[in-house]
Order: sequence, then structure tokens, then C-alpha cells
Amino acid sequence: MILLDGKVAAQAVKNNLKSQVESFTLQGYRPPKLAAILVGNNGASETYVASKVKNCAEIGFESLLIRLDSNVSETNLLQTIEQLNRDNEVDGILVQLPLPKHISEQKVIEAIHPAKDVDGFHPVNAGKLVQGLPGFIPATPYGIMLLLEHFHIQTKGKHAVVVGRSNIVGRPMSILLSSNIPFGNCTVTIAHSHTINLKEICLQADILVAALGKPAFVTANMVKEGAIVIDVGITRVADTTAKKGFRIKGDVAFEEVAPKTAAITPVPGGVGLMTIAGLLTNTLQAYLNNQQAK
Ligand code: NDP
Repeated sequence: MILLDGKVAAQAVKNNLKSQVESFTLQGYRPPKLAAILVGNNGASETYVASKVKNCAEIGFESLLIRLDSNVSETNLLQTIEQLNRDNEVDGILVQLPLPKHISEQKVIEAIHPAKDVDGFHPVNAGKLVQGLPGFIPATPYGIMLLLEHFHIQTKGKHAVVVGRSNIVGRPMSILLSSNIPFGNCTVTIAHSHTINLKEICLQADILVAALGKPAFVTANMVKEGAIVIDVGITRVADTTAKKGFRIKGDVAFEEVAPKTAAITPVPGGVGLMTIAGLLTNTLQAYLNNQQAK
């Protein structure tokens, strides 16, 4: 069994990005800049945004963190996004989800200019992904593709089962794996909460992507011998023995599933780190597009 270590793969991606940034700045160009908006102070969101900002600094990107109160009006948030859309020095914009109930996430996603939408959530980028056109791919599925590439996982002709059909993970993942691209060309089944016989379907998977948000849901009796298992799940499970009072759990029962697999991602230390690698890669691309447009 090979451990698909996100730390190793993400570091390789970041080293590559860092050397590109160094060469641009040596030529006198400004570095890429990512603006992140954090509304309120949800613990998990704070952690994710802090990690994104830290990773930007590591590879020489500039970042701007805009914190807004949880009571901020939708109008104010949309105005903030509009200012960033107009700021030529800002290449990428992300708004950390989830947002407070009184704000429409869809409106916010659609307010970000598609050229700066480095999370790849805007319908324009989603449509481009479906049609195989260049655009921004949502960071988590993109990170998984970078992971498959890093570990030279053969995907062509394989049966991939993706459990989960959200716009940010499952659906784009299924499109990428079925596309005629490197590390694609799978035959894909997409499963969701209405799927009947989920166990039997998962057992057919050469590549199983679990993205449903239910800790340890995928058990050994759902996994084919020799499968590749990608665990996207991140759930905070209360644990009084843990320093922070919780532990991060994936969607796969790792201990029992890992011995059956050819390769598997750990949680934490797997897809989460690759998501940041995907985001940073998108941001560099946004920067290059922005520079070319001048
Ligand atoms: P959503 O809640 O938006 O989507 C979950 C999907 O799983 C839905 O399509 C749902 O089906 C499906 N589902 C739920 N229960 C079942 C079930 N019992 N059987 C089959 N399908 C089921 O979650 P996200 O896609 O946003 O996230 C999924 C997980 O990935 C979460 O744990 C999240 O924290 C994590 N995540 C991790 C990231 C990372 O960087 N590692 C990034 C983003 C998310 P239906 O559509 O029918 O409701």
C-alpha cells in the first residue's frame, strides 16, 4: 500500500510555484496577489484562511486578508468584492465558505469576476470545466488531480466512483476524471444520498473518491482489493483526549480500509494540503493571465 502523502505532493507543487515567482520578481515584475475574505469567526474557516495566507507567504505570493464582521450586510460584502474585482494588483479573490445565513453564497460566488475566481466556483468556470475549456478548476478536485499526477497514478480506462455531487468537490471531480486529459479518461459513476446499492457500486471502483462528509463512512467491505482511495472528508469529531477537544476525521475508516488498497490518502495530511496547492496554482495562473492582459 502506498500512502498518497499530501505533504510531499503539495510541497513539490509549491516548490515549483515558488521558483516561478522568484524568476518573475527577479525580472522586476510584482508577485502574484491573493485576496481572501473571511466573514465572522468560524473556527474551521479561521484555520483554513490562516493556512492559505501562510502558504502564500511561503512561496512568495502577496496576500490580503479582509475580515468582516458576521453581521456584515450582503450589500457590503458584494461591494468589497467589487473593489477587489477592480483592483488590478489583485489576481485572485476567495471568499471563505460557509457564509452567515443572511448572505446568499450563490450571489457572492457570482460576484467574483471569473478571471479572479481562483476557487473555481463561478458558473462561468464551472461551464468551462464541463466543456474542457481553460478556466479555474475548483481547488479540491484540482488538488486531487495534482496528487494523482505526483504519484503517477494510472487512471486511463479505470472505473472511478465519486461519492458526493457538490459543486465544489464531487461534481467537478467526476467531470475531471471522465475528461480526456492526463489523469482522466476514467469511466465515472457519481453517487449521492439517493444512490441505491452504494456498497456494491463502491466495490466496483478501481478509484474511489469519498466526498460526503460522513466520518469513517467507507468501510473495508465497500472497497475492492487493490483500489486507489481518495478521502476528501474533513469532519471535526469531538475527542476529549485531543488537545483541541476534537480530531479531524476523513470519510474513510482508514485503519481497516488501508490494508486492502493499492494507495490511499491520509486524513489529515492528504487532500486538504492538495486543496491549497490547487488554489495557489490557480492564483499563479490568474496572475499570468492578468499580466498578459496588460
Ligand atoms: P456537501 O455536504 O456539499 O456534499 C456532500 C455530498 O455527499 C452530497 O452530494 C450528498 O448527497 C452526498 N452524501 C451525503 N450523505 C451520503 C450518503 N449517506 N451516501 C451517499 N452520498 C451521500 O459536502 P462537500 O462536497 O462540500 O464536502 C464533502 C466533504 O469534504 C466534507 O467533509 C468537507 O468538509 C470535505 N471537504 C474537504 C476539503 C479538503 O480540502 N479536503 C475541501 C472541501 C470539502 P446529496 O447531493 O444527495 O445531498
